[in-house]
Amino acid sequence: MIRLFGSLIVILVLIATASAVAQDVTLDGDFIQGGLVTGRVAAGDRVDLDGKPVPVAANGRFLIAFDRDGAKTAKLEIRHANGSVTRRDLTIETRSYDIQRIDGLPPRKVTPSPEDMKRIAAERTLMVAARGIVRRDSDFVSGFVWPARGRISGVYGSQRILNGEPRRPHFGVDIAAPVGTPVVAAADGEVTLVHPGMFFNGKSVVIDHGLGLNSVYIHLSETLVKKGQKVKKGAVVGRVGKTGRATGPHLHWGMRLRDVEIDPALLVDGSPEN
Ligand SMILES: [Zn+2]
Repeated sequence: MIRLFGSLIVILVLIATASAVAQDVTLDGDFIQGGLVTGRVAAGDRVDLDGKPVPVAANGRFLIAFDRDGAKTAKLEIRHANGSVTRRDLTIETRSYDIQRIDGLPPRKVTPSPEDMKRIAAERTLMVAARGIVRRDSDFVSGFVWPARGRISGVYGSQRILNGEPRRPHFGVDIAAPVGTPVVAAADGEVTLVHPGMFFNGKSVVIDHGLGLNSVYIHLSETLVKKGQKVKKGAVVGRVGKTGRATGPHLHWGMRLRDVEIDPALLVDGSPEN
């Protein structure tokens, strides 16, 4: 439903584009909180979103995304090589989010000890580094597939109450499936992190899809790729598990564009359940 509504907005934006003066800018995606939009400009054009520079690949592709709680509007500015400027006011659909209560987690996984906190901080540094890479590539043009088959057991944006304690929102989609279920790359990319067991995430894989777009696959029972490896959309990268902070076997699939956590479910068609 959200996806359908997002697509309608895209069509409206494209109609608006077509009726305006000829401009070499195309935008395609979900103009909604948590949404990702792919743009294309002429090679050499420069792009800013709300005054911040947006990386552009050599082929003119760029990506922008909207925060879970981001503003209802955004300003896109494209400076063309000939000196002219195209400005676009974007309207971002807002969302409301569920509250998800999860009980029965080991207390240590909700309120870690000072010793655990050190480990968590070190692991976070690794994750931030792996997800902070901005390659001027556009592997993401492969499109996206669900990385595992199973039942959706957690959605993007939920406010989380763990063992009764409020915690940061859930930035990803959970797919519950038996231990050992294959986990595949959601899109073409390059593996930037493989970890044998993080405190919260357990066994983890991070894949970079270009321009600062990346995906994470966590709580795995097994990782089947190496750092630096190039992967194609649909290639097996690991297996579903329940390592780290998990009450049962599932894949947590997260997607981030630079500093914005986006909703993976908006990127894929259909359902992972069958
Ligand atoms: Zn999750």
